[in-house]
Amino acid sequence: MSGNPRPVFRFAPSPNGELHLGHALSALTCFSQAQEAGGRFLLRIEDIDIARSRPEYVQGIFDDLTWLGLSWEEPVVYQSQRFDVYREAAGRLRAMGLLYPCFATRSEIEAAATGVSDPDGAPLYPGLWRGRPEAEVRRHQAEGTPYALRLDMAAAVRIAAGRLESALLTFREDGQEVEAAPERWGDAVIVRKDTPTSYHLAVVVDDAWQGVTHVTRGRDLFAATGLHRLLQVLLGLPEPAYRHHPLVMDEEGQKLSKSARHTSLRALREQGMTREQVISRIGLAG
Ligand code: GLU
Repeated sequence: MSGNPRPVFRFAPSPNGELHLGHALSALTCFSQAQEAGGRFLLRIEDIDIARSRPEYVQGIFDDLTWLGLSWEEPVVYQSQRFDVYREAAGRLRAMGLLYPCFATRSEIEAAATGVSDPDGAPLYPGLWRGRPEAEVRRHQAEGTPYALRLDMAAAVRIAAGRLESALLTFREDGQEVEAAPERWGDAVIVRKDTPTSYHLAVVVDDAWQGVTHVTRGRDLFAATGLHRLLQVLLGLPEPAYRHHPLVMDEEGQKLSKSARHTSLRALREQGMTREQVISRIGLAG
């Protein structure tokens, strides 16, 4: 082997609904970037949400991508098969003193919220369980109360700044340095109550493990990238280059969602829409 390793791109859908036009834009953009760069194109099934993921949605992803004319390397990676790896990564953050158990329910968080929202529009976590006495934590654990593990954001940002020897955490977006600003998430959930990871932890662990060099995804994940960059620094993982493409809107100017079945790729295909029409609808040249 000689020369530069090939760049690695990936499309990473969650199989908890049918893919829509926004996914088509992500997948086609990643795929054509990979082709232009002579790179590799990987598919990762982000099925950490065991309760909502369904095999028929996984099959739907394969069908939709094939219909769009895409091909990907085998084997496809399934996050549900990698829970041990995420547990290990969470364990490392915990050993650094950066994660703490949070037993709060959604309604307790809402009741204590300050009116400030996180970038997803949820109430910013008001730190209810940060710094609680160890005995209280142990008592709740012994009672079997479910808990999430949250990042102590202030401590995490401090450690990252020490590692980088810079107070400004950034990521690379299309060749520009962009401020990461992970503190907008507050003490983010790193391990959910119902599954041994969160989207944020699994995505940074897997992008690094799969050698992903270029992450292309929708603008709705722009703020998440700031948190991902922080986790990469804390876990000593390499930094991919990022691109966030504009979102595809519906006729009313609303963001498309997986629950809107009438805009799913499958529904559009069944209505007779062609691949070329999809490409033109999402604003890509055919
Ligand atoms: N699984 C995420 C989703 O379907 C996308 C993850 C990513 O591209 O980083 O929204």
